[in-house]
Amino acid sequence: MKMMMMISNNNNALLLIKLLTLHSLLVLAASQDFDFFYFVQQWPGSYCDTKQSCCYPSTGKPASDFGIHGLWPNRNDGSYPSNCDSTNPFDVSKISDLTSHMQSEWPTLSCPSNNGLAFWGHEWDKHGTCSESVLNQHDYFATTLSLKNQIDLLQALKSAGVQPNGQKYTLSSIKSAIQGASGFTPWIECNNDTSGNSQLYQIYLCVDSSASRFIQCPVFPKGSCGSSIEFPKF
Ligand code: 5GP
Ligand code: 5GP
Repeated sequence: MKMMMMISNNNNALLLIKLLTLHSLLVLAASQDFDFFYFVQQWPGSYCDTKQSCCYPSTGKPASDFGIHGLWPNRNDGSYPSNCDSTNPFDVSKISDLTSHMQSEWPTLSCPSNNGLAFWGHEWDKHGTCSESVLNQHDYFATTLSLKNQIDLLQALKSAGVQPNGQKYTLSSIKSAIQGASGFTPWIECNNDTSGNSQLYQIYLCVDSSASRFIQCPVFPKGSCGSSIEFPKF
């Protein structure tokens, strides 16, 4: 009899361990389908001098500085999740304490001129909903704003003599200016102005999966710039 009870207790314990393991695997699988974030900033001059052109937001011409594009969860194999939770749509009332800061640091440049809600909403719906396990809607925006404060890209470039003056710079001088100032190798994305010149459009840095610190990028996006690229005025 005693022997039977021991066996049954052992079986129960085994079952419990199996269930707990399964549960934690399921929680892990459901909660985090990404390995790191790209933190992407755009140069407004390079958005505006293209064929598509731009419109200043209703709050006026943005500062001559990099603006936030987004914080994008990404996988080590280069793929990324998107539009992960339609039950949690962008809700501006959740970020009312952040909107004035957002207007200066995360300005929209798309046309027609607008107050930025469509851009922020797009970024939350497409990318933010895929990192809900780490950042709720308020913290997704608050964390992204604070990342911009931690590394001043324009200052890093200017200190190395790379100025937004319409001149051309080598891609390597741009990358090493940012590497030197921040300790991290950025990815540079280029686009073309209306005359077809390749120019500095977006700068990518990487952030760990808990969005708490910058890291070296595990993988870079695809694309090319040419070795000499323009840094337009804005
Ligand atoms: P494009 O086609 O202009 O390169 O990218 C269009 C959009 O796709 C981007 O603005 C961004 O929302 C998304 N995207 C492009 N590349 C990446 C990437 O490497 N990672 C993530 N998470 N999103 C990307
Ligand atoms: P993504 O490239 O992140 O998928 O999408 C960017 C979307 O946001 C596009 O639909 C684009 O029209 C819109 N958008 C609004 N304002 C801006 C802006 O200032 N910069 C960029 N890159 N896209 C913007």
